Amino acid sequence: MSETVFATPQETPRALAGQGRVVLSAHDLTRFYTVNRGLLRGQATLRALNGVSFELAAGRTLAVVGESGCGKSTLARVLTLIEPPTSGRLVVDATETTSASAGEVAPLRTRVQMVFQNPYASLNPRKTVGQALDEPLAINTSLGRAERGEKLAEMMRTVGLRPEHVARYPHMCSGGQRQRVAIARAMILSPAIVVADEPVSALDVSIQAQILNLFMDLQDRYATSYVFVSHNLAVVEHVADDVMVMYLGRAVEHGPKAAVFGKPLHPYTKALMSATPAIKAAERRVKIPLIGELPSPLRPPPGCAFAPRCPYAVDHCREEVPQLRKLEGRLVACHRVEDIEG
Ligand code: SF4
Repeated sequence: MSETVFATPQETPRALAGQGRVVLSAHDLTRFYTVNRGLLRGQATLRALNGVSFELAAGRTLAVVGESGCGKSTLARVLTLIEPPTSGRLVVDATETTSASAGEVAPLRTRVQMVFQNPYASLNPRKTVGQALDEPLAINTSLGRAERGEKLAEMMRTVGLRPEHVARYPHMCSGGQRQRVAIARAMILSPAIVVADEPVSALDVSIQAQILNLFMDLQDRYATSYVFVSHNLAVVEHVADDVMVMYLGRAVEHGPKAAVFGKPLHPYTKALMSATPAIKAAERRVKIPLIGELPSPLRPPPGCAFAPRCPYAVDHCREEVPQLRKLEGRLVACHRVEDIEG
């Protein structure tokens, strides 16, 4: 272990490695909500996202991993401009969104698209597949009806839909076909970035690999960058270039997949891997049971948020929030990595 320098918000594994044109960068992003807790208890602040930074290069995939409630879906909504951050900077395709006017942000909404977990909920049940795919083209391009039809047919072929699907409604399609439609709709305007929030977790296991392979084929073809949000490490292992493990709104380990999967350093990453049988045994060599629940983001524990569940916690952990620091080719936020690994 040679490096033990603390990282700045701008220092992400991608920036450290100096790779590729950056298409998406987040600097110390936060997203807080004010929650009303009733007459007697007043209001509280829910810190769903608490200082997240990363950079994503063209044609690369960042996987964001963690349990339900860790802030990964909030991050997905902020990155797709559905919600503004409470503070921090978000740069999409070289445009600083947090200081931009509504007129400057509007065109960016076509550059960053989202694929949701449940394609049935994200597609309009009253629109056919053809109408669902034509709509973004009709609204955002000056293409005529015939040109749109050609583009639509080509995209349907690319995602593995047959010509007869064009007149079908979502309820007439299988789960896998519906997710192919949702992916085609996200891709049809050639976005620079697609944020996929648990895109295969609602699908049969037999279909999941097909959809993951489709994502990868599309990335090869169009050099699209992905932010792939998932609780499933086996899925992440399949698609990711970089991995960011989140816990209670913060990144706790962030680096190239080979480093994080090859030798996880944060006790929470180790615990997640212990709980995933599909991860190769060598990567699960340290068995840490993931006991207890994720604490409420309304009442985060003092110091390290993982301390109540961490078998290595000491008093110092409960007093001081560990910051991300560079260690063995990734960033990790744990006071005791050297003690644990040593
Ligand atoms: Fe565990 Fe302490 Fe590291 Fe937090 S800082 S993960 S409590 S050892």
